[in-house]
Amino acid sequence: MTPSDLGLESGRAGQLYIGGEFVDPRGSKRLPVVEAATGALLAEVADAGAADVDEAVLAAVAAQPGWAATEPSSRADLLDAVRRGIERRAEEFARSITREVGTPIRHSRAIQVGNPIAILEHTEAALRELSFEETIGNCLVVREPVGVVGAITPWNYPLQQVVAKLAAALAAGCTVVLKASEVAPLTALLLAEVADEVRLPRGVFNVLVGRGETAGEALVTHPLVDKLSFTGSTRAGRRIAELAAALVRPLTMELGGKSASVALEDADLATAAKFAVYNAFLNSGQTCTALTRLLVPKTRLAEAEAVAVATAAKLPPGDPLEEGTRLGPLASQTQLERVRGYIRRGLDEGARLLTGGPDVPPGWERGFYVLPTVFSDVDPQMTIAQEEIFGPVLCIIGYDDEDQAVEIANGTPYGLAAAVWGGQKERAIEFARRLRAGTVEVNGGAFSTVAPFGGVRQSGYGREFGRQGIEEFLVPKSLQL
Ligand code: NAD
Repeated sequence: MTPSDLGLESGRAGQLYIGGEFVDPRGSKRLPVVEAATGALLAEVADAGAADVDEAVLAAVAAQPGWAATEPSSRADLLDAVRRGIERRAEEFARSITREVGTPIRHSRAIQVGNPIAILEHTEAALRELSFEETIGNCLVVREPVGVVGAITPWNYPLQQVVAKLAAALAAGCTVVLKASEVAPLTALLLAEVADEVRLPRGVFNVLVGRGETAGEALVTHPLVDKLSFTGSTRAGRRIAELAAALVRPLTMELGGKSASVALEDADLATAAKFAVYNAFLNSGQTCTALTRLLVPKTRLAEAEAVAVATAAKLPPGDPLEEGTRLGPLASQTQLERVRGYIRRGLDEGARLLTGGPDVPPGWERGFYVLPTVFSDVDPQMTIAQEEIFGPVLCIIGYDDEDQAVEIANGTPYGLAAAVWGGQKERAIEFARRLRAGTVEVNGGAFSTVAPFGGVRQSGYGREFGRQGIEEFLVPKSLQL
């Protein structure tokens, strides 16, 4: 493995990007990044500490006034340049993500790289339309950038999650210090190369690689950070919120989910169940919005089970770099153990295994492979129906009537996404209004990268994408005239 295979320039994998320069971290410790499909070492990356965080925040602080003073149209032009820079290197991004995360290469191109490109396009368009001033009563209300943003991101969509924060914060006139996930940090460094190539002003975007408890917490508590935008687990989000509370530091929180897909009595169940499997198994189930619970009328349970099993059979595990693969490995050993543990728990608690199971798929002993798994007769209170598994595990749950379906769908601590399928669109929309979730897909409606995205309840608060995404990083100031 040479660094050029990862798209990065030689020596960059172990570095940080601070104040417009690629620099070595202060400490000598390094963290391993492994290839999902083989478990082999892919690169050794920085394990940034508090001194590196401080340097990055100071660079962002120094760049902040100049960046805030730029015309929104110049910032929009730079977002466009970043988008074109990603497009030029799209294949390097896609391959790097496939190696780090295990996403099948076709999905990496279409989703892992395609979505960030769309997000940049939509954010740029929203910025060109956005008004930064309005008159309310006797006041001129000006909307100002909140300042220096600390961004912390997970590994499952490592470019999308960074770009969603970066594009919106830069559009608002904020500067950014990113603490990328230590599991899949190479994409963030590739993005730093793009930022460098398109001459984003120094210090406007800084990239740290390090662990959550060290670099992450140093960023969360740094006195000169004005706002935090976090995407990751509810567990880490809770810890970050506690630390931020002491500083009264504003937060945007994009956390976990346990989303339900509800097939109504008159739904086209063949399509609904097929979609449920594809959705739940996308990126090997490592998707925050994964629809991991399929709710069907009890009278139609057998029909749903047959479709789900037949669809899962079309998704055998494969090498994610092969063009035909639709289900790759999980991202890490930790993930593998976690997901197999949940499958065992499902069996122990009495769910009926339709396909898959906790065994390693034959022939896929290297890397972090797990069998695509479908359970039926799942009680809504079972662990596998309540907790985020983050693997290719679908739970089919029967319901008696629509009120009960609403109750089950809303009956977890989360509220990120949901889906509803019905023969009559208007009725399906009415049902969607009853679901407590930030986004609801109606009859397979496509994922939007421009409408507000985010959760309710323990899935977090605040929104990303489009105009609302930018507004997360603006604060109103009322000039009383
Ligand atoms: P994670 O919470 O373990 O880590 C996320 C990031 O937070 C990493 O960069 C990590 O280093 C950092 N971190 C961890 N502990 C920290 C601490 N105490 N202080 C500061 N930073 C800390 O999550 P993960 O395993 O990387 O990602 C999977 C999770 O992310 C899942 O729960 C998934 O649902 C969630 N997610 C949510 C969304 C969304 O938009 N709502 C999108 C993608 C992923």
